[in-house]
Amino acid sequence: MGIIKELPEELANKISAGEVVDRPASAVKELIENSIDSGAKKIRVSVEEAGLNLIEIIDNGSGIEADDLPIALLSHATSKIKTSADLDRIRTLGFRGEALASIASISELTIETSTEKELSGSRLVAKGGKVELLEAMAKIKGTRISIKKLFFNTPARLKFVHSLQVENYHITDIINRESLAHPETSFTLISENKPIVQTTGSGDLRQTIAQIYGIANARKIIDISAEDLDYKIQGYISLPELTRASRNYISILLNGRYIRNLEINRAIIKGYGTKLMVGRFPLVVLNIQMSPQIVDVNVHPNKLEVKFTKGDELMQLISESIRKTLSEKTLIPLALENL
Ligand code: ADP
Ligand code: MG
Repeated sequence: MGIIKELPEELANKISAGEVVDRPASAVKELIENSIDSGAKKIRVSVEEAGLNLIEIIDNGSGIEADDLPIALLSHATSKIKTSADLDRIRTLGFRGEALASIASISELTIETSTEKELSGSRLVAKGGKVELLEAMAKIKGTRISIKKLFFNTPARLKFVHSLQVENYHITDIINRESLAHPETSFTLISENKPIVQTTGSGDLRQTIAQIYGIANARKIIDISAEDLDYKIQGYISLPELTRASRNYISILLNGRYIRNLEINRAIIKGYGTKLMVGRFPLVVLNIQMSPQIVDVNVHPNKLEVKFTKGDELMQLISESIRKTLSEKTLIPLALENL
């Protein structure tokens, strides 16, 4: 008798959850991205105890069909890709089919959902990845997901969670970035019953920046756009008079996906050149559009990291267009748009 055994699905999911959900904010990110992929134009997130006690997400997206609901919790179960060729042309934020399985395995999860065409809605309750209840319910518009007691069965992970203040900061940060990535969607974040973030979903990026960073800051940004054969960049950059001591006000959005990329940060700062003092950073929201074929988004389970096949060209385009935009705009007086 051999000693190698396949792990039960719940245990396998619990192990991979460590990579996908390293803190409450990562669960929030995955759930929001599911809502966006479902076409939601309104997403409301409420948290208690920085998401450790409760994360609730309500969206007005497409919903999940009753037959699909238990399948959505299985690992590697997704409606977003079908073949390996699809992996080279990903247009959705999700594609790994792992998030719900991971989150469910380390929490008490309830999903309530209905699709337009169904006559009733459905509800699923699972604990530690085991489905405990699946039933019909009254129809709603979209999907409500509640995650209770995140990490209840992973004490080691719970130890890595920082103070509630730090975890709340990360949750707010994710909502801010997702709002900037999706100005056409209205986001609300409520923490302990208090409103923290509210965007209107007008579709206007400058207005969204004003809603996130304040009107005064939004008046000190200028628009930027540039393109070459492979990339198209668009967004806002702050005038050199508006700088911050932190890099956190740089948001990079790639085909609608919020990503982290040190090389792009460096290219942005290079574009400012001597206009930035050492240790100061600009406020930048940069949308980069490109063919999914020249970027690999499947580098890490959290999908925050990506790899470019034509990276040097992109860095050059970013630095150059920022340099050019700043030298043009700082010469002529600014026409301030109404906010
Ligand atoms: P992925 O997003 O990679 O497909 P997930 O585990 O995050 O994997 O979700 C599994 C499936 O559940 C999705 O492919 C989608 O069909 C469905 N789903 C999850 N959340 C929502 C939602 N808020 N609205 C509609 N469908 C959803
Ligand atoms: Mg997903």
